[in-house]
Amino acid sequence: MLELKNYRTQVHNDWCPGCGDFGIVNAIQMTLLEMQLEPHRVAIFSGIGCSAKTPHYINAYGFHTLHGRVLPIATGAKLANPGLTVLAVGGDGDGLGIGAGHFVNTGRRNLDFAYVLYDNGVYGLTKGQASPTLSKGKKTKSMPEQAIQDGINPVAMAVASGYTFIARGYALEPKYLASIIVKAIQHKGSALVDVLQTCPTYNDLYTKEWYEGADLPEKRSRLYKLEDKGYDGKVQDPTDAQEIVAKKAAAVARSYETDPIPIGIYYQIELPTYEDAVGQRIPALAEKPLVEQDVFHRDVTPLLEAMR
Ligand code: SF4
Ligand code: MG
Repeated sequence: MLELKNYRTQVHNDWCPGCGDFGIVNAIQMTLLEMQLEPHRVAIFSGIGCSAKTPHYINAYGFHTLHGRVLPIATGAKLANPGLTVLAVGGDGDGLGIGAGHFVNTGRRNLDFAYVLYDNGVYGLTKGQASPTLSKGKKTKSMPEQAIQDGINPVAMAVASGYTFIARGYALEPKYLASIIVKAIQHKGSALVDVLQTCPTYNDLYTKEWYEGADLPEKRSRLYKLEDKGYDGKVQDPTDAQEIVAKKAAAVARSYETDPIPIGIYYQIELPTYEDAVGQRIPALAEKPLVEQDVFHRDVTPLLEAMR
């Protein structure tokens, strides 16, 4: 029986005190624990940013990659070794700025993996510039003036891109977030979990107190859970185009609600994965994954002859 300590590392954590990232790492560790996933069967990939240090703090295979490039690298790993549980993690700046093209094209493929997006509205590692999810007109304490570009809605963008499991969580509710990440991993296909994350150092707009509604005349949370309102985003019949469009439209409509903000599962559909399609195209990969194939002793003479 694996315990929580099996998913922790001894690496010194240098995130700012009170950062929402701690809640997300706790949630990922709780997820691995609940699923009893052995650390050597899990691979966590990150891009660049505060959130990109996540693989350092979780005992599993980890790869701290390049800015905006986490998704193609995670994709390659999953295709080479489909037996791994693959998690990609990264910030909103990383994933929706420089990495936006990969965000869209990864959604189109329906690779079986989960992407946890740390969404704090700023580029935390580089001193708090407005990130692609900060709305027009907003100004955090780290910005000299208001943002003059509008923000991207990650849930709506995931719907449009083709992710087959789309959810939103909150970093400071790690148990609930873990329950969502468990479902994201169990889902056979591309899962996006947009996590509302507090950055107390640079974002003084979306703080723990703000999410708790401490400034309201009558204090109440600015978040609500979709399932508590009877919402069900799961497509029952994946061959029913009308149902798909209706569920997508409902997910997008909910994703634009701002007060209160919905968290939970917005959309889910069971469809064939990219691995299924690759296995059909290249039967050798369906029989034996790339990591188990002898790629060093292949006879490429017939290929060279064919190209003469
Ligand atoms: Fe967290 Fe913000 Fe500090 Fe980065 S800058 S570690 S996101 S609080
Ligand atoms: Mg960010």
